[in-house]
Amino acid sequence: MRRVLVGTGWKMNFLLAEAEAYLAQLCAHLRTSPPGAVEVFVVAPFTLLRAVRERTRGSPVRVGAQNVHFEESGAFTGEISPPMVVDCGVDLVELGHSERRALFGETDLTVNHKVRAALAHRLTPLVCVGESREEKEMGVAEESVVRQVKMALHGVSAEQAPEVLIAYEPVWAIGKGGTPAEPSYASRIHAAIRSGLEDRYGAALAARAPILYGGSVNLANAGPLLSAPDIDGLFVGRVAWRAEGLIALVEIAKEWVQRRARGPAQ
Ligand code: PEP
Repeated sequence: MRRVLVGTGWKMNFLLAEAEAYLAQLCAHLRTSPPGAVEVFVVAPFTLLRAVRERTRGSPVRVGAQNVHFEESGAFTGEISPPMVVDCGVDLVELGHSERRALFGETDLTVNHKVRAALAHRLTPLVCVGESREEKEMGVAEESVVRQVKMALHGVSAEQAPEVLIAYEPVWAIGKGGTPAEPSYASRIHAAIRSGLEDRYGAALAARAPILYGGSVNLANAGPLLSAPDIDGLFVGRVAWRAEGLIALVEIAKEWVQRRARGPAQ
C-alpha cells in the first residue's frame, strides 16, 4: 500500500504568533480527528523551526525546513547547514523549489549536492521538480522533469533512495496566477517520474516512492488529484496557509484513503 502525504510550505510567511495560532488549531483538530494513514507535514521558515517543532510535539505533524546548504559549516554567510536544521529537531527538508531555482540560482547540480548532504544527516529530502510553461508547450515536460529527478538523485544509493520524497510542481501551476494541472496531466508526469526511478532503482522501489503533486491545489481539485493514478499526496501553498485549509485537505485525503481501502467502487 502506497503512502499518502499532505503538507504545506509556508514560504516567507508567518511570524511566531501566527504560527502558534495555526498550529494550535491544527493540532487540536488532529487530536479529535486523527489523520490515520495520512502523513501531515508543515515546512516552515528557519526562524520558526524550533517553535514549530515544540508546538507540534506529541502530534502526528512532521516539521520541515525550506532549504539547506550542502556544506556542514564554514564561511557561507547567511546560509543554514544540515546539522543546524537537525539541531532544531527537524527531520525533513524541502529542496529545489522552483522559486529557489528561479530567484536564488539553484541548479540541478546544487540540488543534487543538497539532497546528498541532507541524506548524510538523516534529513528526508522533499525534492521539488517541475517543467516551465515553455517546456510544457514544446512537449518536453516529461524529459525535463525526469532529468531533474535523475540529477537530484545522482549518487543516491538504493538504500538511501526510499527516504526521498518527490514533489512534482509544474512551474506554470504554482502560486498566484498559476493554473492547476489536470489530474490526468499530473498523473502522466508522475508515471514518467516513477518510470525514471524504475530505470535507476528497479520496479519495487519505484512503485513505493512517494510522489506528491503541488501547484494551485484547492479543496475542489484535491480529491480528483489524489484519486489519479501515481499521485501519492499533495504539497500545498496558499490554500493551506490557513489552518482550516490544511485541515480540510487532510480530511479529503483521509476519505480517499478509506475509499481506497474499501477497493474499487462496484
Ligand atoms: C508551491 O509554491 O509550492 C505551491 C504549491 O503553491 P500554491 O499551492 O500556492 O500554488
